[in-house]
Amino acid sequence: MIDTQAMCEEFCELVRVDSPSLQEAEIIRLLRAKLTEMGIGSQIDDAGAQLGGEAGNLIAHVPGVEGAPTVLVNAHVDTVQPGCGISPQVDGTCIRTDGTTVLGGDDKAGCTIILALLRHLLDEDIAHPPLEIVFTVAEEIGLCGAYALDHDRLDSEMGYVLDGGRTMGTITNSAPSAYRMSWNIHGRAAHAGVCPENGISAIRIAAEAIAEMPLGRLDEITTANIGIVEAGKAANVVPPLAYVRGETRSHDAEKLEKQKDTMVNAFEEAARRHGGEVEADVRLNYRSFEIDRDEPVLDYAWRACEKLGFDPKIERGGGGSDANVFNEHGIPSVILATGPAEVHTVDEWLDAERMAESARWLTATLGIIAAEAE
Ligand SMILES: [Zn+2]
Repeated sequence: MIDTQAMCEEFCELVRVDSPSLQEAEIIRLLRAKLTEMGIGSQIDDAGAQLGGEAGNLIAHVPGVEGAPTVLVNAHVDTVQPGCGISPQVDGTCIRTDGTTVLGGDDKAGCTIILALLRHLLDEDIAHPPLEIVFTVAEEIGLCGAYALDHDRLDSEMGYVLDGGRTMGTITNSAPSAYRMSWNIHGRAAHAGVCPENGISAIRIAAEAIAEMPLGRLDEITTANIGIVEAGKAANVVPPLAYVRGETRSHDAEKLEKQKDTMVNAFEEAARRHGGEVEADVRLNYRSFEIDRDEPVLDYAWRACEKLGFDPKIERGGGGSDANVFNEHGIPSVILATGPAEVHTVDEWLDAERMAESARWLTATLGIIAAEAE
């Protein structure tokens, strides 16, 4: 039985453990102990050492029905800030924060669902395919844990990433590519009252460049943002330095390249006009993917929805998740709804009933996969 109340309590236990990105030792230890309690052996990989974090990814293999494809089941254990000292406020099955932190449903809801799933499968001896359970670290700072995984050690033929939104039945089947960009703009300092003509304002260069570039929602599948501008020390000094950070995302590779070039060129041209210089740091953050409706990984989840009476729905993702990385490494993966709403804010909340539904959904999905192998 999937017990909503027990899931609610376990979720609260998990979110009370602080786990900002790269500080995941305690939560990984706790999850590992819970797996051990179920009789599931696990390993921790070297992602912690690779990333300069406290802990690696936690990986467990659970044998299943012979002849069925191995299925990856994933959630990430790190949470965004402000996410330390989380004090979950429970009202019935509804869980909120005390207003000072996020709730950490992204992605402790996913972790809770995976634990409930495993107990359910093992306790009640439910047929399921072989499973690779992967709890990843450092997802929120750029999918770093998933990138650090040794993907050659995974056998999975498809994957379910438990890191979705609130509405049950929603399957996220695609994600954009993204560039993260930063610029160091160099002007020249001068006394703003005595000899401003000797100065080159880095703020002016940054401002002109930003004003010229298209930002926000550029079309249905492309977005761009400038998120950080830092510059200046005193009102009477022409600012010699400015630091700017931004990003652009698109489901279309060509549109992504075009917008990236537009942003980079805007800074270069503004710098040239004023005699300044600009260094750009441009990184491809993650690669897009798209899973068709009739691909097995999506079709199984879809049919499980219908079986349970949820309304199956395909949604485009707006951001990156570990699913990007698994897809990039040849494991077709989709993201399933897990329940939390308003994630990454202090208003985040979660109805534990949704988590229980998500666990039932995943159980049903795996059940269909196992049944078709027999
Ligand atoms: Zn997440």
